[in-house]
Amino acid sequence: MNAAPLFKRVALIGFGLIGGSIARAAKLQGLASEIVTTAHSEKTRARVKELGIVDAVLDGNAAAVEGADLVILCIPVGACGPVAREIAPHLKPGAVISDVGSVKGAIVRDMAPHLPKSVHFVPAHPVAGTEHSGPDSGFAELFINRWCILTPPEGTDPHAVERLRGFWAALGARVETMTPEHHDLVLAITSHLPHLIAYTIVGTAEELAQVTESEVIKFSAGGFRDFTRIAASDPTMWRDVFLANKEAVLEMLGTFNEDLSKLTRAIRRGDGEALFDHFTRTRAIRRGIVETGQDSAAPDFGRPHPQLAKKPD
Ligand code: NAP
Repeated sequence: MNAAPLFKRVALIGFGLIGGSIARAAKLQGLASEIVTTAHSEKTRARVKELGIVDAVLDGNAAAVEGADLVILCIPVGACGPVAREIAPHLKPGAVISDVGSVKGAIVRDMAPHLPKSVHFVPAHPVAGTEHSGPDSGFAELFINRWCILTPPEGTDPHAVERLRGFWAALGARVETMTPEHHDLVLAITSHLPHLIAYTIVGTAEELAQVTESEVIKFSAGGFRDFTRIAASDPTMWRDVFLANKEAVLEMLGTFNEDLSKLTRAIRRGDGEALFDHFTRTRAIRRGIVETGQDSAAPDFGRPHPQLAKKPD
């Protein structure tokens, strides 16, 4: 245990990649006297009991939030409104209510009307994840050095925002605050559009008539392989993200399509200079990401290549 508990009882609704990672990290850091959780299915609840990470696994959302000082919804974006309505009468006055949804405008729209005035609603989005999901996929280090964006509605008690900021900082995250609208615009280009492109390109490859599926898999060592990792992300989560962040994604998609047309034109005309200039600019973005510590500088994302490391006999 590294820190004094910041909350007495933390309730995590949903125990998948994000809920499971919060539970593991919060336990490791001693951030709560007690952590309780629940999940949608009996199967997941049984698995979480087996894992033995949290203090209690409860059978319903209402039971889970009873007496909790911090409640975090770690469930798909589309489920947050109905769950907020369900738990509202059971929330402890003064509790901080949060979520981890990848879209924030829709979360505020769907959750805020149900929550009583006696609680503090501070939506959050940890910008950290993998393509895995479910109760076994989480790990305590997931949030270290990643951003967590808080989007408190206007008039939220600053003390409640500070408490949640402290919680995420103790999980290892760098915390920033912005409006839900700005969050959705930024994430549309940095996360949602890349996922859409990955889903598109992998789908296109699968449907190609001239190249067989086995060839796509066999020769996937190039850029395609990295798209397949993103395109393996959870279908429920990403369906909800695109439905919930429709406006911002469509806006970014419009700009993207214009840029794609420019590159298409450059290829058609054999305009090497235009291609070279464009690729030089994008290379600088990658350098910036590495320099700010958001990714490793190691070649091929640091994937191990043991066969190269081995000296020839
Ligand atoms: P996940 O691994 O699929 O886990 C989702 C959890 O929510 C499961 O435990 C599921 O229970 C539970 N659940 C679903 N509907 C519920 C309901 N109505 N009541 C109670 N529990 C319910 O998903 P995740 O990747 O952790 O994503 C959760 C949230 O985090 C999403 O809003 C997503 O936008 C956000 N997020 C994800 C990532 C990422 O990379 N994955 C990154 C940042 C933020 P069952 O297992 O029983 O169905």
